[in-house]
Amino acid sequence: MKKPGFTTATLHSDRSKPIEHGATHKPIHNSAAFCYADANELVKVFQGEKAGFVYGRQGSPTSAALEDKITRMEDGLATISFSSGMAAISTTLFALLRAGDHMVASSFLFGNTTSLFETFAQFGIEVTFVDPTEAANVEAALKPNTRVVFVETIANPRTQVADLAGIGAVCQARNVLYVVDNTITTPFLFQPKRVCASLVINSLTKYIGGHGNALGGAVTDTGLFDWSTYPNIYDHYKKGETKTWGVVQIRKKGLRDAGATLGPEAAHHLAIGAETLALRMQRTCSNAQRLAEFLAAHPKVKRVYYPGLSDHPQYERAKSLFCGNSGILSFELIDGIDCIAALGKLEIVISSTNLGDNRTLAIPVAPTIYFEMGAERRASLGIAESLIRISTGIEDIEDLIADFTAALAD
Ligand SMILES: *Cc1c(COP(=O)(O)O)cnc(C)c1O
Repeated sequence: MKKPGFTTATLHSDRSKPIEHGATHKPIHNSAAFCYADANELVKVFQGEKAGFVYGRQGSPTSAALEDKITRMEDGLATISFSSGMAAISTTLFALLRAGDHMVASSFLFGNTTSLFETFAQFGIEVTFVDPTEAANVEAALKPNTRVVFVETIANPRTQVADLAGIGAVCQARNVLYVVDNTITTPFLFQPKRVCASLVINSLTKYIGGHGNALGGAVTDTGLFDWSTYPNIYDHYKKGETKTWGVVQIRKKGLRDAGATLGPEAAHHLAIGAETLALRMQRTCSNAQRLAEFLAAHPKVKRVYYPGLSDHPQYERAKSLFCGNSGILSFELIDGIDCIAALGKLEIVISSTNLGDNRTLAIPVAPTIYFEMGAERRASLGIAESLIRISTGIEDIEDLIADFTAALAD
């Protein structure tokens, strides 16, 4: 049989292992601990000689089924789930980095990730932020102690597209761990493994869950990185195939230390959401494209940022990398128009900080998610005071356009 397509594989992944009582998808297992008929078996599971569960902080059958699904979606080797996207990023990096290490990161990261990387400085991990739209900037920032390069696919809110393939080539040549946050594009639009990513981060809270009803995060090892060359693997995790050392350390050490485990109820919600990812993303992308074109032609709009518009600086790159440009777009109103008042007139579009929801969401960027950093830093990141970010959902496009038409009318 030919390899099943994205949605077929996602829908049927639970059935690759027997499911209790003939259930069609994995049920919720709310047990905090798991027991074995004899202590010898428990010892084997503890020592990694036998697969199984011992204590819910290291995972549950429900989160394991979701992890398998994401591994398939990313065409990876293995996945570990976490209580949120931030938990995935922080736990992964705290498990893999040590004081004295250096990291290169995009200067256009999701704000909370930037905040985390600034915290790293307090723990002796140095981070250099660079413009990732050119791989040369990443290369120039590498040092002998650089352990990780961390980028996102499409930046939020200004939609810059990183030179994902170029950076992948640099990381491969220099044997540096390449971590790509794929939250905005999701594995349906883009698999970072194709540009030689070592680890892929997804916030499951966003498009993969899709319904805005559960938080979760994941890291997927693509299987491309040779962990035997990575200096920070503890001796007890240097067992078995070298490809697996990284995920074993993140799960064992990371989940144990941070305790940022994905609960079974949330895992179940996210797994159900994941089933329709492809359908939702197609609609999300086409809505974003239509809305971006509508706004770009509107007399009260000064500028629109969306990789699907031909005047976007990385339009060609986005087209060659992604099979859709996702649902994040942002725009500036012409001078003299109050963006908060305009957003207040929207009736369907919701004012909310989230993204990747089935509902279309809008937020004025400067006074909310970029407020703490101050006007000077915003200007240096190209964030205009009137910038509005939209995350398009799956509504009927005519309704979204009518909503914006009315909100921007006199
Ligand atoms: C939301 C988001 C995160 C964090 O995910 P949470 O589930 O909210 O913790 C990380 N990266 C990107 C790109 C995001 O959009």
